[in-house]
Parts: sequence; structure tokens; C-alpha cells
Amino acid sequence: MPPLVDTFGRLHDNLRISVTDRCNIRCFYCMPEDATNFQPRAEILSFEEVERFVRVAVSLGVNKIRLTGGEPLLRKDLPVLIQKILSIDGVRDLALTTNGVLLPKLAQPLFDAGLRRINVHLDTLRPERFRQITRRDDFDNVVEGIELCRSLGYGPIKINAVAVKNLVEDDIVPLARFGRERGIEVRYIEFMPLDSQGLWQRDKVLLMDDMLAMLAREICPLEPIPNQDPRAPATEFRFADGIGGVGFIASVSKPFCLNCNRIRLTADGHLRYCLFAIEEMNVKDLLRSGAGDEEIADLIRANVRAKWIGHEINTKGFVPPPRPMYAIGG
Ligand code: SAM
Ligand code: SF4
Repeated sequence: MPPLVDTFGRLHDNLRISVTDRCNIRCFYCMPEDATNFQPRAEILSFEEVERFVRVAVSLGVNKIRLTGGEPLLRKDLPVLIQKILSIDGVRDLALTTNGVLLPKLAQPLFDAGLRRINVHLDTLRPERFRQITRRDDFDNVVEGIELCRSLGYGPIKINAVAVKNLVEDDIVPLARFGRERGIEVRYIEFMPLDSQGLWQRDKVLLMDDMLAMLAREICPLEPIPNQDPRAPATEFRFADGIGGVGFIASVSKPFCLNCNRIRLTADGHLRYCLFAIEEMNVKDLLRSGAGDEEIADLIRANVRAKWIGHEINTKGFVPPPRPMYAIGG
């Protein structure tokens, strides 16, 4: 099968799969407090449907997969899906992005199913600020979950921290120290216009360069890691004293679209070529109408062919996607 190359020459080998649009917390930059418009269960792809889709995608050259949501640990029997995906020949890398709230309960069964790479979302080390951001009281569970992952032998463990201006400035350095002490890379993600309430404004984004300056001033200078994979979304730095490093997903100040290698499958079975895409393609109907693998492969190819050159956050005419972050899969 020819590889998945778009009209700009970008090779696509990376698939993000959302397994649910539900969540057990309510980060204000992602979900409204009173979110209720979740997809009915029947609209959510079954594990068998996801597995079949992955097999077809892998036959087209996809080899790197990340499970996300909503909150993926809310999906019943997730370890079963992990096992199914890991058993597919050609899957080289499987990772999970989670808010960590259920890790104290699920880190062990997920590890037993074969999961090793995990990104845990944590914006602050202050329980009060955590409550302010997430509207829930689960700070201790998340920290306990991270420590449990360390003791079980997960690796790499990364922390995803959303960088919102005038809110988390005084969390940037403590989080980096927390990571340095534990061999965990903290990845700061610039606040993106993907919230469901239209709260995003450019001047609410805490920018990579400002965070870099804070870290250099208060910890020690940082140097870019040489020979980084240009297709990885994060720009990575190591501390000059040799102790650990940090990454930045600078989607607003330094878009990395020109090297994008990702496609996304939503929990309700729609294929998207970009977080910010306006259009999407319905895979679920194909999966449920008896279509053959070749038809599914054609849809994946068509989605990659339709891909734009990049998101338009930095243009005047920017239109946010019709789905908020939790309904796409971050
Ligand atoms: N619930 C899981 C979690 O929070 O990690 C997985 C899904 S969540 C949508 C995936 C990632 O998106 C989170 O790690 C969070 O850091 C990021 N995120 C959510 N809303 C965002 C926004 N408006 N801007 C930037 N990043 C955001
Ligand atoms: Fe839930 Fe993740 Fe969205 Fe927070 S960012 S509300 S944890 S899906």
C-alpha cells in the first residue's frame, strides 16, 4: 500500500484515538462546568470497531498511536483495548494521555496490559488552583497516580501542563522542579482556542518564550536538545546543569504544522486531519455498513489528501472548530 502522504509531502504515521468524550473533571479551557451534551453510548465506537480501524490504518503505514479523550480512563475495560492494539503487527508505539484522576486504580491493570508511555495532565502543584482550573477536588489522586506510575516502571512519563496567562505563571517553575526531581519531562502547552465557551483570546496565552525565560532565571539556563525529531509536536530543552528537561507545545507562538504527521479519530468515529479542522469524515458509518477494508483505507487516504497546510489561529479569519477539545481528543 502506498504511504499516507498529503499534498504538501507530509508523511502520516501517527494516529490519535479518542475513546470517550466524557470526563470526570471540568477544566475550564476544555469543558463547560455543566457539560451534558455527550454522545450517546451507541454512537461511540466499540473496541472491535477501533481495532479494525487501527488494522487498516497500520496497513497504510501508521505505526504510532495515542489514546485520549475526554478522559480515556473512564472507558470501561480500557486495558482490553490496549492489549488489542498492542497485538496488531506494525504498531511500534502506544501511548495514553490522561488527567490521572483514576490512575491510583488503573495504573496497574494498564501496565499489565502492556502500556508504558503515559502523559498525565497536571497544570499546578497547588490543590486550590487545581480546584479552580478543574472545578473538582482530585489533586491528590493525580499526584498519587503519577507516583504509582513511577513505582510501577512506566516510562517515559510526561506531564502536560496547559499554560494560561495571568493564571499559572507561578506554577511554571515548581512544576519543572517537580519533574526534575522525578525524571519526568513537563510539557507546557500554550492555551489553544479549543474551549467550548469561547474563552480563548490571544492575550490569555502564556507563551513559550516567556516560560523559557522564567525557567532560565529561576532554575538554570536551558539548551535546545540537538537533533530533535522535527515531526514531534514539542520543542524540547534540557537544563544546562544536566538535570532533566522540559518541552513546549507552542501551537500559538510557533506552529509546527509544516511537520505534522497526525490524523485523529473521534470517539464517535469521525476522522480529522487536524485538531482545528472544520471538516471531518464519517468512518463509523462505513464501519457499520459492512464496508470492506479497502473502502476504509480510501477514506483515510482521502482525509490525508484533504489536509490543509496548517491551522489558522494566527490569521484574522480564524474559525474555531465546531467541536471543543474534549469532543475531538487532545
Ligand atoms: N483528559 C485527558 C487529559 O486531560 O490529559 C485527555 C484529553 S485532554 C483534551 C488532552 C490534553 O489537551 C490535556 O493534556 C490538556 O493538557 C490539553 N488541553 C485541553 N484543552 C486545552 C486547550 N484549550 N488548550 C491547550 N491544551 C488543552
Ligand atoms: Fe477533561 Fe482532559 Fe478536558 Fe480536562 S482537558 S476537561 S481532563 S478532557
